[in-house]
Amino acid sequence: MSDSVTGRIRNAGLRVTRGRVAAIETLQALGGHRTVDEIARGLTGRGVKVARATVFNVLGDLATAGLVVIADAGPGPTRYEVATYDHHHFVCTICGSITDVPCAENGGQCIEPAVVDGTVSNVQVIYRGVCSSCEAGDT
Ligand SMILES: [Zn+2]
Ligand SMILES: [Zn+2]
Repeated sequence: MSDSVTGRIRNAGLRVTRGRVAAIETLQALGGHRTVDEIARGLTGRGVKVARATVFNVLGDLATAGLVVIADAGPGPTRYEVATYDHHHFVCTICGSITDVPCAENGGQCIEPAVVDGTVSNVQVIYRGVCSSCEAGDT
């Protein structure tokens, strides 16, 4: 696993550092959409001691390189996820759960903007509603 992580970092044009590898591995292991605090806690759990500010910087570098994506799920702390495929998010207004929603068309931007002054490189839609477990009254 870590071989492919180091390969991904190298392919993205970044220097392979322990912090970057650990951040991706941790985010991958945690799965889903995670805050800096959750990732920092995950790193500590894996025996990697780094300051929160460092984690924040590492995630910023990884996001700029396209290895990590900032998941737009509305207000609240910034959430990161491992970049896999282009998708949107369904946010439950009751429990706050975030679920991936694939793009309508495979591969990239599935919504054409009517008017844009500039060049669009990414689009993320937030679908809001009530998730199935909240609908079932599980929580
Ligand atoms: Zn819910
Ligand atoms: Zn996602």
